[in-house]
This record gives sequence, structure tokens and C-alpha cells, in this order.
Amino acid sequence: MIEPDIPLSAPDITEADIEAVVSVLRTPRLSLGPKLAEFEAAMAAYVGGHAVGVSSGTAGLHLALLALGIGKGDEVIVPSFTFIAVANAVRYVGAQPVFADIDEETLNLDPAGVAATITPRTRALIVVHTFGRPADIPALLDLARRHNLLIIEDACEAIGADIAGRRVGTFGDAGIFAFYPNKQITTGEGGMVVTEDAAVSRRIAALRNHGRYDSERRHSPLSGESWFEHAEVGFNYRLSEMHCALGMAQLSRIDSVLARREILARRYCDRLRHNPELRLPAVDIPDRRLSWFVFVIRLAASFTTADRDWIMGELAASGIATGRYFAPIHLQPAYAAWRDIAQVPVTESVSARTLALPFFNRIADDQIDRVCAALERALRSRIYSANLRRHPQNE
Ligand SMILES: *Cc1c(COP(=O)(O)O)cnc(C)c1O
Repeated sequence: MIEPDIPLSAPDITEADIEAVVSVLRTPRLSLGPKLAEFEAAMAAYVGGHAVGVSSGTAGLHLALLALGIGKGDEVIVPSFTFIAVANAVRYVGAQPVFADIDEETLNLDPAGVAATITPRTRALIVVHTFGRPADIPALLDLARRHNLLIIEDACEAIGADIAGRRVGTFGDAGIFAFYPNKQITTGEGGMVVTEDAAVSRRIAALRNHGRYDSERRHSPLSGESWFEHAEVGFNYRLSEMHCALGMAQLSRIDSVLARREILARRYCDRLRHNPELRLPAVDIPDRRLSWFVFVIRLAASFTTADRDWIMGELAASGIATGRYFAPIHLQPAYAAWRDIAQVPVTESVSARTLALPFFNRIADDQIDRVCAALERALRSRIYSANLRRHPQNE
């Protein structure tokens, strides 16, 4: 396996980011200190609501479900065309994930598909803003209201995206963000839960810190009885001061990061739009601002999964990494029990032909050109050999 010289993604770490992390290490406070409070306040100001820092996006999903009281006997509707943590978090709390299908164009939950999966046990839906494109929140909120369901927004791929000027993550009962290195901004590992509900946010803050409610004295483990008081069984899902310092430094330039990623998406689209075999993501959507997480293209319906995988292999041989975003959750071995129950034909058809191209802040224009040229070469040669198979007399 050769290392690709154009990776699928790469973190964008500046000298100022490094300095921010190092300066925390020169202080005695490495966890539950001022950087956490600062990062939470900055995320609350940027997104809206109360914000609680946690150790990952997955931890955020887990605690949001717990704090909203979802558990055994409950069903939670989720997409299958997404990251597996979405369904796993539902299983952590003992509830049942129920897979709903996506819209063929937006790749987000299809409200009609969601409606078809609602049962008397449905308590909530997890709405993912897939690849940074806002989901159909108005229709899903309407459904949720009519059926008395909670909405958890998984905005892990969509920081800064908005619907008519209102940021995603603020429409539901809780919104989750993530800062893994392939996200728009990173803390290495990390996540944030935002909610308008102060009681829910307090409970999440306690649950991430072993069930301790005493936020005032959280800084001083050695200075108070309350440090040893645990109201309920919690977790250690804390985000360290070093993570928070990096998060602050990254969040301070989010506007330029999102602007840069939009320019890159437009460059890919301009460069590839003359290929009828490719379906490109929409860039301009009225009343929506996208936040570009990954750049995912789709091969035309005449292509098979084998064609897609062969093209990925050709690109890999040219030193270009690509990704299968997403392999459906219900087809994973960990979800064998759901494989035949899930009714998600659009998910299955789309995921067979999607392909993520290298996409990160510092990708150079000539690297994008190289990716596009290699992709077009692979496409042409696959079409040529498919024609030969169909018309062997030409050989
Ligand atoms: C990245 C991501 C998460 C969170 O991932 P972590 O690695 O746990 O931070 C959750 N949901 C979706 C849809 C994601 O893309």
C-alpha cells in the first residue's frame, strides 16, 4: 500500500494553533478550566443556545439522548446513509434505531420516508445534515410536532451551515458538533452539544463529568466535598484544556475556513461539470448556506459498485486517496439484525455509486486539477472497456 500523495483530508494547523495548545501546557490547569468555558461560550455565540464541550461527537450524541430521556423501549429514527455513530448512540441508551430512507437529490432524510417509519414507540429522530447540506428541517419539524417527537440534530458535518440565516444545530431539542481531524475545524478529538434548554445542558455537563452537578467547584478536585458527590451514573466525556485551546484558535477563523472550502467545491464543480457520467453536489441552494465537509460525487446509474471501486483503485494507483461516503449502516456486520428489516432502497442505490474526492483547506489548485484529470481518465477507460464487453466483435 503506497501512501497517497494527495490525501482525502488533512487538518489545517497553524503556528498560532500550536502556540495556543502549548501555552495551556505552561499552566497548572489541564482539564475543566478557563479554556473549556471560553470554547463553550464561543460555540454558544457562534451557533446559539447553551453549549457543552464533550470528548467527541459520538459522546455528544450519547449524552443528548440520555439527557432527553430516551432509553429502553423507545424507537429513534435515523438515516442509514451516514456515520455509524449515529445509530450506535441510540443503541448505547438501549433504544432501537429505525432506519429511514434519504432523498435522492439532497442525501438527507426524506420526510416521507421518516413518516413511513413512525410507530407508537417512536420518541425521536436524529436529523443529520449530510456532508454539510442542511436537511429539510421545516418538514421534519412539522412531522415531529404532529407526532410529538424530539429532534436531535447531528450537525457534526455542518458547522456554520444555515437555513434562512439560522444556524443548523439550533432547530431541534439538541444539536451536536464534532471536531475530529477531518471536520471543517478540529480539536484532534472533541465535540459540543448545543441546546436552548438550560436543564438539559446542565444534565449533559454533569453526565460528561461522572455525574457531578457542582459546576462552580469543578476546578478544584481537592477543595470540596461536592467533588465527591455524584448525582447519577455519569461518564468521563470531558474535553481537555489543550483540546479547547485548539478549538478556540480554529473557531476564530471559521469564516475563512468555510469560505475557502466553498471556493474548492466550486472549483471541483467547474472542472468536472462537462462529464455527463458524474452527478455533482449542488453548491447554490436558495435560502440555505452549505458548510463543505467532504466533496462527494456520484456515478451515473449505469455504473456499478464494481465500476466505482475500480475507479477508486485507479486513482489510488495515481497517488490519490478517495473515500466511500457512506457504506450504509444497516449493511454493516454490527447491524446484521437490521439488514433485512431496513427499507431504504435509495440509500442502497446511492451508496453503491458515491465517491469522496480529496478535500481539505490547503489542497492546491493543481492538485484538484490532477484529481479531476485522473478521474476523467479512469472514467473514459472504464466506459471503453464496458463497451468492449458489450460488443466483443469490436475487439
Ligand atoms: C463525524 C461525525 C460524528 C462524530 O464523530 P466523532 O468521531 O465521534 O467525533 C457523528 N455523526 C456524524 C454524521 C459525523 O460525520
